[in-house]
Amino acid sequence: MLTGYQPQWMWVHGRFAENFSLVASDDTGRIVALGPKDAVRARYPRATWEPWPNKVLVPGTVNTHSHSFQHLLRGLAVDQPFLIWRDQALYRLTPYLNPNALYLGAKLAFSEMILQGITTVVDFFYLHDHGLDNDLAVIQAAQEVGIRLILARTFYDWEGAPEAYRETPEEAVNRTRILAGRYRNNPMVHIHPAPHSVHGASDAMIDAAVGLARDLKAPYHMHIAEEPFEVDEQRKKTGLSPVEHLAQLNALDSSLIAVHLTWASPQDAALLGQASARLAYCPSSNMFLADGVTPLKMLRDAGVQVGLGTDGGCSNNRASVYEEMRMAALLQKVGSLDATILTHQEVWNMGTENGADMLRVDAGRLEENRLADFVGIDLTHVSLLPWSQETLLANIVYAMSPAAVRNVVVGGRKIVQEGQLETEDVQALSRNIQQLIRNWM
Ligand SMILES: [Zn+2]
Repeated sequence: MLTGYQPQWMWVHGRFAENFSLVASDDTGRIVALGPKDAVRARYPRATWEPWPNKVLVPGTVNTHSHSFQHLLRGLAVDQPFLIWRDQALYRLTPYLNPNALYLGAKLAFSEMILQGITTVVDFFYLHDHGLDNDLAVIQAAQEVGIRLILARTFYDWEGAPEAYRETPEEAVNRTRILAGRYRNNPMVHIHPAPHSVHGASDAMIDAAVGLARDLKAPYHMHIAEEPFEVDEQRKKTGLSPVEHLAQLNALDSSLIAVHLTWASPQDAALLGQASARLAYCPSSNMFLADGVTPLKMLRDAGVQVGLGTDGGCSNNRASVYEEMRMAALLQKVGSLDATILTHQEVWNMGTENGADMLRVDAGRLEENRLADFVGIDLTHVSLLPWSQETLLANIVYAMSPAAVRNVVVGGRKIVQEGQLETEDVQALSRNIQQLIRNWM
């Protein structure tokens, strides 16, 4: 079925165009046509036409790093340093996280995200104690909610972590390969390998993950230099920084999506830039856990492309890429005492097209034949007023309340309509979640 959308304004090729229309197909999941209203309408008279008066249609946002299960831990171990937070929130509650809990946690995370305009999400997922059952529970949740999922299936073998996280390199490769094969032709689910970090994954595990990623021609995701302890430990062990260590393992290339890089050195930035590696930047989480301020300008100047991530529900604790656009700009400004260091246009691109590019998802821009992933924003919402063609983008980044996000379409399918999630009974989900965590307290 073809649906035509007639918003008042549309974000096309880096500017707001008035009276443009877009036609999306829910069969192919792609944008069929886009252009001046009358011309497009004449080409597709039989499409079902939806008027969107007083709305602006923009590309959906791309969340390049999150952990869906951590939504179940929201509110726990707050105001603590990283290692205490990790023990008290993550490690302590891991035994309760069976496939049903993970399914509900993923439903909660994905529902909240899509209601706030996220159309593609990376779930960096590392609970592997039921073989593939946990992964399948998360995938099922994404499919039911209707969000586009990248399952970054984690390779983890550090013995200090809960047993539920750990696999051998052979198990991790075999299971990830099975999943990747199963979803190879599904545009809504992609499987990427994700060696956890230099402290969470042995050299053999990192080798296995990077080898599989190259085999699958997929990106690979890895936490790198989030906390000073990780850099110190690595230097003690090998005399190298985590990035230098990865260079020595031949694990740096343009398929690497590094997460955080809070403590990257100038030498690290040069190595990452030479390799055309990417960064999933998570500013709110970095602030919440007091990780530090990622040297974003240094990394970008070196050639590292940047996308934005919310990180987990117990380290952010929100789930909006618009929020991360704002936080990225604010944190970089105050960290450098330079208001010009990162602009609203730059963080907007990070949260949309850059994120999609690094994940190799054909979204993030509104163009014919690209994926029909977009958002309708209410231009009469008080948080956006006053606006003009010149100020609207800045207001979306710096001022907009999540309540202004009214419609979300993923793959041509209407998932959120006038602020209501069409695919989920949010009241029932809320009851199930509250029931679930009652047993943990
Ligand atoms: Zn993370």
